[in-house]
Amino acid sequence: MMNISVQLCGLVFDLVLVFFIVRHEGVGLYGERIFKKCLFVYSCCIILDILSVIAIENDEYIAPFVIAAACKMYLISLMASAAYGFVYSYSDIEHLRDNSHFKYGITGVAIIGAVLIAVLPVSYFHSGRTIYSYGPSAMAAFVFAPLFIISSFLMTVFYGKQMNTHKRRAIRAWMILEMTAATLQFIFPQALLVGFGSSLGLFILYSELENPEAYLDKVTGCFSAETFKMYVSQEYMEVKQFSSIIVCNSREWKLGEEEERRILVEMTEYLHSFGSKLFRIHGNDFVLIYDKKEEHEMNEIESAVNLDVIRQRFKEPWGGHFLTTKFLYIPDSHIASSLDEYNDIYSRYRDTFTNAEDMKTLDDSAGQSIREFRQMILEIKDALSTDRVEVFYQPIYSIATDTFVSAEALARIRGEDGKLVMPGKFIPVAEETGLIEQIGERVFERTCECIKEHRLKEIGIEYVEVNLSVSQCENPMLSTTYDEIMKSRGVTPSEVNLEITESSTLNQRNILLENMNKLMDLGCRFSLDDFGTGESNLNYIMDMPVNIVKFDRSMVQEYFNNDKAKVVITNTVNMIKQLGLKTVAEGVETEEQVEGIKALGIDYIQGFYYSKPLSTDDFIRFINEKNSR
Ligand code: C2E
Ligand code: MG
Ligand code: MG
Repeated sequence: MMNISVQLCGLVFDLVLVFFIVRHEGVGLYGERIFKKCLFVYSCCIILDILSVIAIENDEYIAPFVIAAACKMYLISLMASAAYGFVYSYSDIEHLRDNSHFKYGITGVAIIGAVLIAVLPVSYFHSGRTIYSYGPSAMAAFVFAPLFIISSFLMTVFYGKQMNTHKRRAIRAWMILEMTAATLQFIFPQALLVGFGSSLGLFILYSELENPEAYLDKVTGCFSAETFKMYVSQEYMEVKQFSSIIVCNSREWKLGEEEERRILVEMTEYLHSFGSKLFRIHGNDFVLIYDKKEEHEMNEIESAVNLDVIRQRFKEPWGGHFLTTKFLYIPDSHIASSLDEYNDIYSRYRDTFTNAEDMKTLDDSAGQSIREFRQMILEIKDALSTDRVEVFYQPIYSIATDTFVSAEALARIRGEDGKLVMPGKFIPVAEETGLIEQIGERVFERTCECIKEHRLKEIGIEYVEVNLSVSQCENPMLSTTYDEIMKSRGVTPSEVNLEITESSTLNQRNILLENMNKLMDLGCRFSLDDFGTGESNLNYIMDMPVNIVKFDRSMVQEYFNNDKAKVVITNTVNMIKQLGLKTVAEGVETEEQVEGIKALGIDYIQGFYYSKPLSTDDFIRFINEKNSR
């Protein structure tokens, strides 16, 4: 019985693997599914190996054609296991996995191999304890199986970069083991090592990659963030629909490591009871995923019902602590088309809850706005690189001189179709992504060029207002960069006025002040933009070394529509004047408003009543005409 002891060892290995795999719930990843199939085929192969040896050993009782059939079945399963190993080896390489020609090709080769093994004659040898099969049929198996084994190995060579290091290494070890076992068995046919070698290879693969523990989060025992990425990207690749509940816990509980750990474990146990797939993603956030099982099954309803129950539970304390957990609910995964988009939606909406809100349902419009957002990022980058960022100038009228003494430089993007994209569309995106710094610089460069080239001073424009974004104000290089731009264009700092807006944090304010001081040393001056919006207050004006305060359009409208606001604004203007600062009213559209603003004692007016923002040529024409009257 020497010949089957090795196979029995292999079979024990396989059974141990089956035991471990059955004990854990799987995620359902493609690689994991193929691995299970491999395990099944490999186990069949070993069992058939054992059966064929038993059949040969008892050749005096069993008909030769039955023995031949058993041998051939074993040889076919041997080749099939090598073929499955090959399928596993490219399971992460998307373009091969989804290529039906490639799949048909492999299936075709495997079928040819199986047919050859089945029709070619097989012989077997039995003398004492030495038992093996040989002949043309066995030869075919020993040609086709190595073909798949070598191909798997080559996969790790040519596509190694698309596999993770573990996978690459594990597949190589597995294939080398199989190849060595097959070569030894080919040279010494009585040593039936192939089955054992393969099982050992599977074992390596299991411990390195397919061990269900590897998919779990170490703290909570639910699926890990890494598994989430693999799973969701697979769902999108296979165009499956799922609904999901994202449990957004505060980033900082500040309860101490041990206590937080206990709460996370308690939450995991609770959330696990909802029968969906549970992942711990980013920080303390969890995601519950409800797969659509059947075509007409409504996973949205199941998840919505569960969400209500979960929300109620989260109103209660966890480990004695009340937590301010928020929920993002995505009934239909199709609002995104990839893992990246899904993650974008998650990170964009995660922090937009108001205090009163604890839940947000994200539908198609969320997906749409993410796509527009991404599209806009591309558009801005392209506009910057192909020089499609333009500057328009809105004239600013001085009541004292009855002429236009300045203008505000306003960014525009010239679309590929020639149409203008307005700041309302791209400035928020640029601010969120940091691209605003490049836009701001570009606008400043163009403005300086315009000041110099068109000799704005000579036509009465004393200075041009240029907007500074908050992130520019936080950049310690701001003064150096702007100084260089002005010097290289031959513009003196008094010809520009930089517009700042109120910054929210003290830290931002301190950096802004440093920057302002450096720029003022050069000779630049500042305006406070958007006064009257947000939290702007008079304290800010006193703290910041600005020369001009610009009243926002909304404040100007309030002045004409609300009697109480009129009193407040009148007093505010007086106070600002007493501080020795100049004032600009923005958004003045009618003659009646112009008269009102004049009576209020404001210094300058900027508004559609005089002019909309104009392209450089139109602006020069406008100023030449108006200022020469
Ligand atoms: P802002 O700096 O307060 O600029 C004034 C905005 O009010 C301009 O809008 C202007 O067209 C508009 N406006 C002026 N008068 C009237 C009026 O009578 N009626 C109405 N309805 N609107 C009027 P625009 O050009 O669309 O710019 C919007 C905002 O985008 C700007 O507000 C500014 O915050 C930002 N922005 C524009 N260019 C830049 C830039 O180069 N850098 C930075 N950081 N922000 C910019
Ligand atoms: Mg402005
Ligand atoms: Mg403004």
